[in-house]
Amino acid sequence: MSENKEFNPSCPISISDYPNVLLAHGSGGTLMNQLIDGVFKIAFKNKELHKSHDAAVLNIDSSKIAITTDSYVVDPLFFPGGDIGSMAIYGTINDLAMSGAMPIALSVGFILEEGLEMEKLIKVVNSMQVAANKAGVDIVTGDTKVVDRGKGDGIFINTTGIGLIKHNMSIEPSSVVDGDAIIISGDIGRHGIAIMAVREGLEFSTFIESDSAPLNGLVSKLIDSKIEIHCMRDLTRGGLASALVEIAKTSNSQITIDENNIPVREDVRGACEILGFDPMYVANEGRFIAFVKRDDVNKALNIFHSDELGKDAKCIGYVSADKPGSVTMRSCIGTMRVVDMLSGEQLPRIC
Ligand code: MG
Repeated sequence: MSENKEFNPSCPISISDYPNVLLAHGSGGTLMNQLIDGVFKIAFKNKELHKSHDAAVLNIDSSKIAITTDSYVVDPLFFPGGDIGSMAIYGTINDLAMSGAMPIALSVGFILEEGLEMEKLIKVVNSMQVAANKAGVDIVTGDTKVVDRGKGDGIFINTTGIGLIKHNMSIEPSSVVDGDAIIISGDIGRHGIAIMAVREGLEFSTFIESDSAPLNGLVSKLIDSKIEIHCMRDLTRGGLASALVEIAKTSNSQITIDENNIPVREDVRGACEILGFDPMYVANEGRFIAFVKRDDVNKALNIFHSDELGKDAKCIGYVSADKPGSVTMRSCIGTMRVVDMLSGEQLPRIC
């Protein structure tokens, strides 16, 4: 039984510094983490929540069941490489996969704005079913609410997923240990740049489309091959940098990475320079990092490379115990720099 205690919002951050919610509170950076730690985790205090993982893992009888939820508010609804519907399926599937769970079923909640064209809704819904087929899962329950014209933005979607864990590994940030190798599944930055290009009406000389994709197939191959996986994290809001910092802090370890090994397409790098973004912080929807036992790194890379979604995978660095909670990067020119989370908002409404 949980304690029947009144919620007291006295928290480690000064909420008085932010009397109102900012867009940056949803950005995946420092402010979002402060909101989660300082408000939600204090109100909803429990062991699973405090593991700070993509999905919670519940022991039910003799089964390990993963549960996760995510809401999608991306603007625009349709973008190169995907739309809000496919992303709402893949995002939740991917959060289940990051705990090593294979999806069993999804629920979907729609918040629709009065006046939304029915044709748009049908296009999104059909895209969701195509995505669910691709991920091998059914949408088994749902909910629909409609808000007044002007009080929504077309379509907001929430998806919840449950998954089954069939192995004995604890794939979570606290399982990361000294010596682990860190593998990235492919190039970074395409989702954020694809969204920005549509939103800002930008045209690049090459076609940049979102990397949005379901990761459960690749993760399943890694698990089946008996590779010792300690943690995985998909590189959504806040990008690679925020994922690394979150894991370094939760696991109380130091992470050192090499910029030369982080794949970024030249056109994406160019677009980032024009827009003033660092690809390390740009959101992805089909990329992840895996922390594996150092002895297993070559075996793991072979499995990544055998899959279309991991064909450009690289080992980007290692875990050590030197400076707990920190992330350091050797830059292209050989200098070392500290990697931290962004405090403000780089790209709002990206997912
Ligand atoms: Mg995630």
